Amino acid sequence: NNTSDAFFAKAEKHLMSTGVPMSPVIITKAKGTRLYDAEGRSILDFTSGQMSSLLGHSHPEIVETVKKYVSELDHLLSNMVTQPVVDLAERLGRLLPAPLEKSFFLNTGSESTEAAIKMAKLFTGNFEIVAFSASYHGLTQGSGAATYSAGRKNAGPTMPGSLVFPAPYAYRSPFRKADGSYDWETEMDFAWAMIDRQSVGSLAAFIMEPILSTGGILDLPKGYLKRLSIECKNRGMLIIMDEAQTGVGRTGKMFAFEHHGIVPDILALSKTLGCGLPLASVSTTVEIEKGCTDAGFLWLTTHLNDPLTAAVGNKALEIVERDNVCQAATERGQQLRNGLLKLQEKYWVIGDVRGLGLLQGIEIISDPNTKAPGADIGAAVSDKAMALGLSCNIVNLPGMGGVFRLAPPVTVTAEEIDEGLQILDEAFNHVLS
Ligand code: PMP
Repeated sequence: NNTSDAFFAKAEKHLMSTGVPMSPVIITKAKGTRLYDAEGRSILDFTSGQMSSLLGHSHPEIVETVKKYVSELDHLLSNMVTQPVVDLAERLGRLLPAPLEKSFFLNTGSESTEAAIKMAKLFTGNFEIVAFSASYHGLTQGSGAATYSAGRKNAGPTMPGSLVFPAPYAYRSPFRKADGSYDWETEMDFAWAMIDRQSVGSLAAFIMEPILSTGGILDLPKGYLKRLSIECKNRGMLIIMDEAQTGVGRTGKMFAFEHHGIVPDILALSKTLGCGLPLASVSTTVEIEKGCTDAGFLWLTTHLNDPLTAAVGNKALEIVERDNVCQAATERGQQLRNGLLKLQEKYWVIGDVRGLGLLQGIEIISDPNTKAPGADIGAAVSDKAMALGLSCNIVNLPGMGGVFRLAPPVTVTAEEIDEGLQILDEAFNHVLS
């Protein structure tokens, strides 16, 4: 219609393209699990915005917190420490397993991984950073050097010492056997052998997500992280855990690394901690803090330890604990997963269902025998779902089949999960008939 034509004409004229195609939908309001367009049409948000709106859009208590702090204590000189910042550091310290106890706060995921990488380099005195081949840790120059799933092309040399480690992709791994079992240990031996050959003897850290989300919702096999953390220790490397998407309850535990019985050396949180506002944290041990400080660590960005966003983080964690969000994520996640498994029985194009809690993925194939990727089918289903009122993201690596990421806010109701599944069913039915 004329209004939307004028809107997109103006957007195309003035907004610089950043390589992200514009959605054809114009959202004018977002509340809870739902988005609304100008005509009042409702769309279920199974992406939690950009994976950040953990408690749904405009959660009333988050709104109250923003209102209070934006009117009373918004932003100060970076060395002026305020109550919400100290409270958030204390609260995180209480939630984190020992010896993780000290934190600081910044804005975005890229910034948190950038800082974590710098800390690992300072603490170890080394400079090589290992990351998974399906990793996403941000797109600034340092974090982007550890991101292998997107944005690497044509920008010249990356950070020196960036090494890649094959991501465990059970569904397509050559180490998956005919009986369906997955010999990730042999795959890992092979991967470490490659790292040890490539390394110039300056290994500083392995940066990783506990579920490789943007890389296709790859969950790590049982025992994988334990073994990986031993291999890192043997080489004097730190583990940087990036829980931008998985942290703060989404997977059914406060932090997803807790599913694996390991404790990282540095933890980066972002997206979910701010519930849609720009807040990130970096947490570590007293020993690493001291090593970094002694080596001259400086992190002084404009919004370091801002009170407004720290107050939001406090409120988010308070709600997550008080309302037993981990349990809700487990229960609603199981409901979503069961529904997806039913759809898989009905539609052979769904080759795989994977994920944890309310971070689920389905991979689309175009041939049940060869498991050839079905990216076009995935795109068609996703477009149809959007037309029917469900927004879900497709996260793709080359050679994958179009992986749907289904990650509604953890405040999603059982009825909304059923509604989303129903829409997906209709969309698959429409595209395949
Ligand atoms: N780490 C992970 C795991 C992410 O998913 C993202 C964002 N997709 C980032 C880091 C980067 O965060 P930001 O876009 O806020 O810089």
